[in-house]
Amino acid sequence: MRPDHRAHRLYVEASLREGADVVLSPEQSHYLDRVMRAKMGDVVIAFNNHEGEWRGHIAETGRKAVTLHLDQALRPPAPQGRVSYFFAPLKQARLDYMVQKAVEMGVARLGAVMTQHTMVSRLNLERMQANAIEAAEQCTMIAVPEVLPEQKLEAMLANRPADDMLVFCDEAAPVSSPLQALSTIGADRPISVLIGPEGGFSDAERGLLLAQPNVIVLSLGPRIMRADTAAVAALAFVQAVCGDIT
Ligand code: SAH
Repeated sequence: MRPDHRAHRLYVEASLREGADVVLSPEQSHYLDRVMRAKMGDVVIAFNNHEGEWRGHIAETGRKAVTLHLDQALRPPAPQGRVSYFFAPLKQARLDYMVQKAVEMGVARLGAVMTQHTMVSRLNLERMQANAIEAAEQCTMIAVPEVLPEQKLEAMLANRPADDMLVFCDEAAPVSSPLQALSTIGADRPISVLIGPEGGFSDAERGLLLAQPNVIVLSLGPRIMRADTAAVAALAFVQAVCGDIT
């Protein structure tokens, strides 16, 4: 059953079950009542990572809060995905864009990695989480990807699961088929896709990455893409070969 993407979809961290009345947050109430001019009885779809997706309707509106009454379960909770996305943070607007695109491309988790040429020092995790929730609401996902706190490149590499395949997107790699390279990844193995900063990885970082166990060096073609373009290209290839775009 394809999800109903016309109805309002809201990520609601509350206990979602048949017959429950869920009082929405002030922000979500304002959004529905004031921005979307939603009316009593309007269908609203509520979802979260633990209880899946539920169809409800507006049972109460008013200055304080909007209340949803949940009528039926639509889709069960989604299994935790296998694709993680790590990236050197970019300046705000491009970072907002890249977080939303990674969510739309179906990553299970995403996190910023601080590299030698990273031009951004302070990261706003709340803003990244809000962008991830908004993207998940819009693209009819049932789970919001986890947004990890930023970590140094070495820490990210050390924290990977033992069987994790690192997909290192390297603009310096000889051009070769990404589909071919990714087809060597065994089914169900976790995958970490890594995109560098606008200034690229340093030679020392490239050496460290190439020396990793379970690393696949991915060329995304003969052109040097901006990091946010490379993110979408890389994740499209990964999801087409190893993920749910098949
Ligand atoms: N240092 C480069 C630009 C880096 S682009 C230069 O100025 O020439 C930012 C990131 O996007 C890179 O670190 C890489 O992860 C990814 N990327 C861009 N183009 C790519 C390509 N053709 N193949 C693989 N990765 C690419």
